[in-house]
Amino acid sequence: MTGTLEVLEPATEAVLEEVPRAGVEETDAAVARARAALPPWRAMAPADRARLLHRLADALESEREQLAVLEARNAGKPIGDARGEMGMVVDTFRYYAGAPERLLGDTIPVAGGVAMTFREPLGVVGLIVPWNFPLTIAAWKLAPALAAGNTVVLKPAELTPLTALRFEQIALEAGVPEGVVGVVAGPGRSCGQRLVEHPHVAKVAFTGSTEVGRGIAAGAASTIKRVTLELGGKSANVVFADADIERAAAAALPAAFGNAGQDCCARSRILVERSAMEDFLAALEPHVNALRVGDPLDESTEMGPLISAGQRESVASYLEDGAPVAMRGSAPDGPGYWFPPTVLAPVEREARAAAEEIFGPIACVMPFDGEADAVALANDTIYGLSGSVWTRDGARALRVARAIETGVLSINSNTSVRVATPFGGFKQSGVGRELGPHALDHYSELKSVYYATDE
Ligand code: NAP
Ligand code: MG
Repeated sequence: MTGTLEVLEPATEAVLEEVPRAGVEETDAAVARARAALPPWRAMAPADRARLLHRLADALESEREQLAVLEARNAGKPIGDARGEMGMVVDTFRYYAGAPERLLGDTIPVAGGVAMTFREPLGVVGLIVPWNFPLTIAAWKLAPALAAGNTVVLKPAELTPLTALRFEQIALEAGVPEGVVGVVAGPGRSCGQRLVEHPHVAKVAFTGSTEVGRGIAAGAASTIKRVTLELGGKSANVVFADADIERAAAAALPAAFGNAGQDCCARSRILVERSAMEDFLAALEPHVNALRVGDPLDESTEMGPLISAGQRESVASYLEDGAPVAMRGSAPDGPGYWFPPTVLAPVEREARAAAEEIFGPIACVMPFDGEADAVALANDTIYGLSGSVWTRDGARALRVARAIETGVLSINSNTSVRVATPFGGFKQSGVGRELGPHALDHYSELKSVYYATDE
């Protein structure tokens, strides 16, 4: 171990816990343990592996409240949100607990015999996750990876390792064999990079920034590692004049300021048809002013602090470029990385705030003129993760949903993620899909076996 990791509480700036800091050596040891655990894990009867995943889901469910409090304190998120996230963690394990017995192959008629396909595990998989939804995003990777017969080494973000470390214990207590799940709490540039380079790691599943994702894709090339990347976003919330403007305005709020805007699916660009602009801003303002920002453990809190001083500084820099501040909510004084919910309107198309992922509670409102302009503006970004369309015209809703270049899109809703549906990005928002049945394809290799039957 290379010293200790001081884990802070962003709402107070105080040390929440100190944990040993892992480095390259601990990463190598975890990979070696995962490699040793692989043969019995992949050979386990599918029904037994399914039962273990259900038992793990039960254990997580019975510790849901403690995990939610730990996540709320360490990541600075409202306790109600943290409870919802831990519910999704449980649901994700339950969903993939059904998978080991359903990894079906094909039989294919060919000359001279029969061909069949199998889904084989990849081997040891490295999982690298960010600080914004620490255990939730880890679960999206852990559950399908384990269900498909892989063993894993998970590297949480240095800022938020606590629920991952607790998860490692819970897995052991639930009966998951030693070595199947390893957690290395240490820096990206040592533990993370080592997973990317390690010759015995078959795949890296990464969620984080597009910038780090580029380095991971390049680093994986030397061993032809499988890589899935869930990266940044700059999603558009497109509101047509015929939409229910009151509803769209109320829903725009959690879509932009949920998790204090530190959400890869944040609808941080609100595109409003010009004729509805005035009505939309008037409907939005009371919601921004009423947003309750404060102590994550207070049941009534709707938005917590940012994750760190550095993140707050980075977010604040977007106010220096001259885009007009149309609305500013309130935030506590004193210790804590607070930032008030802020709406910039109208924002020029060339502005830095309109192009870059801010990853904080700043929303940009921009006018558009007609359907073609809305689609062009929504697509005017290097990202392609998520988005929304608000209109009462059903045909237009589907036309625009198809035309926007994102992996996920919702109509008359701002939700993004469901356990049963694929999630991931177009363009520079990533490669591959998580959740739903499709994720299993990214944690297994397709093998084709030919059996000669002709005499
Ligand atoms: P980040 O800086 O890219 O870090 C993500 C993870 O990668 C952390 O665990 C980090 O470790 C690690 N890492 C850093 N440098 C590395 C390297 N050279 N090699 C290997 N691993 C390395 O992202 P973040 O600041 O934590 O999170 C914010 C970003 O994540 C945003 O851009 C957001 O859009 C994106 N995100 C995307 C999704 C999605 O599903 N598409 C979901 C959530 C977040 P340390 O921090 O411990 O050093
Ligand atoms: Mg970072």
